[in-house]
Amino acid sequence: PTSLAARNQLITESHTAAMRIKAQKLKEQGIPVVNFAAGELDIDTSEAIKTAAQNAIAQGYNKYTETLGIKKLREGIAAKITRETGVVYTAAEVGITVGAKQALYNSAMVLFESGDEVIIPSPYWVTFPAQVRLAEATPVFLDTEPCNYQIDIEQLKTLITPKTKAMIMNTPNNPTGVVYRWETLQEIAKLAIANNLWIIFDECYADLVHSPYEHYNIVKVVKEVKERTIVVNSFSKSCALTGWRIGYVCAPSLIIKAIQKMQGHMTSNVCSIAQHAVLAALEPNHNSFVENTRKLLKQRLDTALEIINTMDAVTYVVPQGAFYVFLNVKQLLGKTYHETFIADVNILAQLLLEEAHVAVVPGDAFGNGNCIRISYAISQEDISNGLQKMKDFFAKIQ
Ligand code: PLP
Repeated sequence: PTSLAARNQLITESHTAAMRIKAQKLKEQGIPVVNFAAGELDIDTSEAIKTAAQNAIAQGYNKYTETLGIKKLREGIAAKITRETGVVYTAAEVGITVGAKQALYNSAMVLFESGDEVIIPSPYWVTFPAQVRLAEATPVFLDTEPCNYQIDIEQLKTLITPKTKAMIMNTPNNPTGVVYRWETLQEIAKLAIANNLWIIFDECYADLVHSPYEHYNIVKVVKEVKERTIVVNSFSKSCALTGWRIGYVCAPSLIIKAIQKMQGHMTSNVCSIAQHAVLAALEPNHNSFVENTRKLLKQRLDTALEIINTMDAVTYVVPQGAFYVFLNVKQLLGKTYHETFIADVNILAQLLLEEAHVAVVPGDAFGNGNCIRISYAISQEDISNGLQKMKDFFAKIQ
């Protein structure tokens, strides 16, 4: 037998990963590349979490745990989300997953099937539609660009059909940095209840919001929506723990039980050491780590915007959270750099890498071919250098 399953055709390689590989190759040739393409903080994990991991190893937590995770962690997360939403969650409504990514994948697998439609605001995090397709359902995109990347409720209403099973939402948003407003979440919750929809609510960047903006969990906004909401979160972004692969899902126990069954046959539990280690992240004294990260990111955003504001051909919506700026570079498309015609953002991103040694992610990976995404979770120096190089390069495009 030689052929692969048709499923392989449903998805393409992650663009973010492809860009990382190209940038790495240049680096290996001794060419310094400023990497705006990564989706993770450059800072190190806290000492508290590292020490907790070492203690977990020393104490011999080396065996399988319950599929859904150790009780203490599930209880800790239930207490956290109860505090954040004002709605009681128990450990039976929590599952620990291999990053938020598996939380989302599990949710898609237990909920979606052929014939289902799933609404996804666009631009979107690239994995959302990929997972919907893998579950044999159909993604239906809600274009948020005309609304400064906020959701237009009237437009959303037009997309709901009898086939609509769910909506996948991400706030603070990757790639736009937009944080959904209380009123927006309220309207979406009402629509979900009226149309019997599930809400998959990805709040991975919840801790990384720039004042005066505020993140709201949709369950806090409309309590009754809890029974149809799957909250997805992770320690990856706020605790600089991307490599540890530890996320979670908070949902009605019906969903959690289905996930337990599915995950039990896929990956079993998340690494036992990582589970014990992140207990430290739930301690009140860990808040200062997150607080400092937020402050650092705000300084970096300010630095980035100062330079971006001097670029003629670029527009953007001011990011309110997460650590990305989604730059609209439409004015540069259809122009020429030396002999190269810049037909689309992929060519622009390629040129940026080869000519300016700056790695970005082309926006069509997120469903918007007029934009590029840059991450400002890199050093202040890299931000200044990289954006100056980008500006100089853009100025040469005719
Ligand atoms: N959801 C969003 C919106 C993300 O941006 C990411 C990572 O980039 C994830 C989920 C996955 O996070 P994790 O590393 O916890 O799997």
